[in-house]
Amino acid sequence: MPTIAENIAAVRARIETAAGRAGRSAADVQLIAVSKTHPPEVVREAVAEGLTVFGESRIQEAKAKIPELPGKLKWHFIGHLQTNKAREAVELFHMVQSVDSVRLARELDQCAGRASRTLAVLLECNVSGESTKFGFKPDEVMAALAELNSLRRLEIQGLMTMAPFFEDPQDARPVFRALRELRDRLQQQHGIPLPELSMGMTNDFEAAIEEGATMVRIGTAIFRPTS
Ligand SMILES: *Cc1c(COP(=O)(O)O)cnc(C)c1O
Repeated sequence: MPTIAENIAAVRARIETAAGRAGRSAADVQLIAVSKTHPPEVVREAVAEGLTVFGESRIQEAKAKIPELPGKLKWHFIGHLQTNKAREAVELFHMVQSVDSVRLARELDQCAGRASRTLAVLLECNVSGESTKFGFKPDEVMAALAELNSLRRLEIQGLMTMAPFFEDPQDARPVFRALRELRDRLQQQHGIPLPELSMGMTNDFEAAIEEGATMVRIGTAIFRPTS
């Protein structure tokens, strides 16, 4: 079985190749290592390979794990966040990628204000139309962006999406393209820069990179059981 170091090297090589196919630089694609369900000692193996940005999807788990790890790491929240956990998210995370309602955005803004900080966020969008997914629908985010952008403690850096699982990752490509096109329309109509596109996971990250992902969120391909 491959080690975590070998897994990371393989993922980096695949990012490089996918970026090259799209005429992009791999340096423009940030690797977010999704460490949910994996204990601190496993995360440390990834840190030893130079990874610095990690994704978690549950506050309870993050609260126990993050203090066990080096303070120089950056943590991104990527799961569904309940408004009553907003304060803890602001305490623990550098970025919340999964802002999926105006109500949650307002709450995060207030908590960031009380903590005298700004919080980087992405707006999670549901561009596939799957009813089981969280996220703004395209017309909702179009209507809400002006208000979201007026929240002074939030720094909206871009959009995030999760594609449905497809046997063939090429089938996820239209979802990624739709997120990029939505981003382009939002930028045009609101004049607000939204440089970041967080899209692509273990099963589909190469297609996402070819469609413009600036962040890929990868768990299984890095941390899959090694024995
Ligand atoms: C778990 C998770 C990932 C990573 O998924 P893998 O298929 O293990 O790479 C990415 N994004 C979100 C939102 C997740 O919950």
